[in-house]
Amino acid sequence: FTLANPYRVVIDLPQVTFALPAGTGDSGRGLVKAFRFGLVMKGGSRIVIDARKPVRIDKSFVLDAAYGQPARLVLDLVATDRESFMRTLAQENKSRPPERKVVSAAPQASSDPRPLIVVDPGHGGIDTGTKGHNGQIEEKTIVLEFALLLRDQLEKSGKYRVAMTRTDDSFIALGDRVEFARERNAALFVSLHADYLSRKEGDAQGATVYTLSENASDAEAPQLADAENKADIIAGIDLSNEPSDVADILVDLARRETKNFSHQFARGLVSEMRSSIRVHQHPLKSAGFRVLRAPDVPSVLVELGYVSNK
Ligand code: ZN
Repeated sequence: FTLANPYRVVIDLPQVTFALPAGTGDSGRGLVKAFRFGLVMKGGSRIVIDARKPVRIDKSFVLDAAYGQPARLVLDLVATDRESFMRTLAQENKSRPPERKVVSAAPQASSDPRPLIVVDPGHGGIDTGTKGHNGQIEEKTIVLEFALLLRDQLEKSGKYRVAMTRTDDSFIALGDRVEFARERNAALFVSLHADYLSRKEGDAQGATVYTLSENASDAEAPQLADAENKADIIAGIDLSNEPSDVADILVDLARRETKNFSHQFARGLVSEMRSSIRVHQHPLKSAGFRVLRAPDVPSVLVELGYVSNK
């Protein structure tokens, strides 16, 4: 199927092990600007093609293996105009089943009185996040390994229950991460990431802790929030039907209280981190991260450090 804003073609497959060299899909030719591929859920993989302009899927068919060549999926894309593209999109939307939800069924209420911390390793599956300075190591892998260690440490303390939004290389939509924490009445949501600066932007180091704000704290913050908010576009999820936030006075009140808790935790975290690791020059920041939008769960996003920095 196709998606608009930006123009994309999405191919859903059963779970596939892609054994392709690093950098495959970074650039394309003709109508194909680039493409990416990976796991979107257990049992389901996806290829997302970025199109240079509106396209139409003219033909798609499978050729059986023959003459020593493997089976082939053939997709013929032709250029079209935006108007016809949008018309096709509307028709496809009518016939396409709704996006399958990855989030598991709502958990049962726990009799364990200890507060629940939701640890959220950023990215995953088709969404690799940023890449290290040599282009090899991916953010999604770094933050998952860190998250598993963090979970073990927290559990060892005996003071908290811990739930993780992912424990393997699966893609989880941003909204599903927020819902995961809300459904479980989490006391705290910690999203883990690692950031990147191109060389001309300097040689930054250290960890940064972000809280949610509509007004970004500095020039760098909104750029980063934009990059982190792109996950759903990367995975080819259509956000056009996503319900808007409930505008309600009670939600507003909860939001204000949650915001205070989030700030309090962020300040505490930074001062704890200072005593053992290097933090960024300005370690407390805020920006419009979608993953921090739960009105009732105090939430922070931790950028562990700059993977662009050796
Ligand atoms: Zn990230």
